[in-house]
Amino acid sequence: MAHKFTFYNTLSRKVEEFNPREEGKVSMYTCGPTVYHFAHIGNIRTYIMQDALIKSLGYAGYDVKRVMNITDVGHLSSDADTGEDKMLAGAKREHKTVMEIAKFYTDAFFKDFDAVGNKRPDVVEPATNCIPEFIHMVETLIEKGYAYVAGGNVYFDTSKLQDYYVFSSEVEKEQLQVGVRDDVEEDTNKKNKTDFVLWFTKSKFEDQALKWDSPWGVGYPGWHIECSCISMKHLGEFIDIHCGGVDNIFPHHTNEIAQSESYLGHEWCKYWFHSNHLNDKSGKMSKSKGAVLTVSVLQEKGYDPLVYRFFCLQSHYRKPLEFSYEALDQATQAFNKLVKRVAELKEDGAVDVAAKEKFEESFRDAVSNDLNTSMAITILYDVLKADINDATKLALVESFDSVLSLDLIGHAKGLSEGPDVDPELEMFILDAIERRANAKKAKDFATADAIRAELLEKGVEIKDTREGVKWQLI
Ligand SMILES: [Zn+2]
Repeated sequence: MAHKFTFYNTLSRKVEEFNPREEGKVSMYTCGPTVYHFAHIGNIRTYIMQDALIKSLGYAGYDVKRVMNITDVGHLSSDADTGEDKMLAGAKREHKTVMEIAKFYTDAFFKDFDAVGNKRPDVVEPATNCIPEFIHMVETLIEKGYAYVAGGNVYFDTSKLQDYYVFSSEVEKEQLQVGVRDDVEEDTNKKNKTDFVLWFTKSKFEDQALKWDSPWGVGYPGWHIECSCISMKHLGEFIDIHCGGVDNIFPHHTNEIAQSESYLGHEWCKYWFHSNHLNDKSGKMSKSKGAVLTVSVLQEKGYDPLVYRFFCLQSHYRKPLEFSYEALDQATQAFNKLVKRVAELKEDGAVDVAAKEKFEESFRDAVSNDLNTSMAITILYDVLKADINDATKLALVESFDSVLSLDLIGHAKGLSEGPDVDPELEMFILDAIERRANAKKAKDFATADAIRAELLEKGVEIKDTREGVKWQLI
């Protein structure tokens, strides 16, 4: 029996107990990246929190199957996004095909996705693999009276639904209706303002490079249709959890539900999991504000990608998180201390099974309680402070890391593989290096030389390098 698990379901607007259709099994769908630009660290936060959800469900005894799409076509429609136009222009300028560009950004995405400790989805499907499935769904929607052809495009008719704004409260519905009414990009083919395109043959993007034949002419699919089709292709007519960022709620997930449930004739997905934005001091992080801050960029600046994961896990997925380099520096210091404490643990005998189970239970309770990852990290600190032997602590660190994925033991091994030095001598060396640096700064080269000689006498050689002062025992 799986452990009781709760999280916030955007559809019911409350924290709910999770009950999958099949005991102990979870079918999960995740909206994947659009691969005409880099995924910024805010996008990666969403994938980190989803990964924590999957691994927490695993810790609670569930077996999760997860499917993700890759948007390599068709996202040029409703979210008018100048960045993407630039990318297509870039493809032309660099004499690359759009598919080459898509491959480049897919690889870049997974490099960052993997670097932060995420497990790859069981199925990853590019949208361009599923054109016949999209056409079939659009045809069926037309047959059932939920879609119509106008001006060469196929549109979903939102007036056919009793409740289109499924995620929204009455107040939010009014706000959304005002927003939709005020939308400057008016498409005169639409019968209702909220209708959306299922298949394009005509759009403002006349230079769309990828096109396929269809019953409505040569064109390409709308963005929303791909998630409905790809999830049904691999997970069938029902899914337990659908994940995404909060900015997917409207219109993307709202439209996914509209077309999926109209096509199927029944409820499609019961639980919707959304993680909140990453902000910087100026507001929401986005790709349109100049250079894109990616995990790879953080790495180039010398940050460990798992420190970024640690930073994200310390905050709740439903709260906006503010990113700054100062905050990341603090996370680095805390992470290094944590690794040092793990490195100090010795294999000192048998694991105390009762104590281990007790702490594992607390950890499971934390992650099963609306994915309280910061509490889970607090319990890790509690373990390190607890009056139990090191072997038990090590076993718990390993157990918790199956969810946290911070590679704490791997980092700790990296530390202990360094020179085996008496801690007192190490402190002396670091102190001497600091004194020497101060002396050099004050142009007191005599003292600086004396400190170097003093160290040599103790068998320590120092070298000035670009990365700072290095020392070794001779
Ligand atoms: Zn989607």
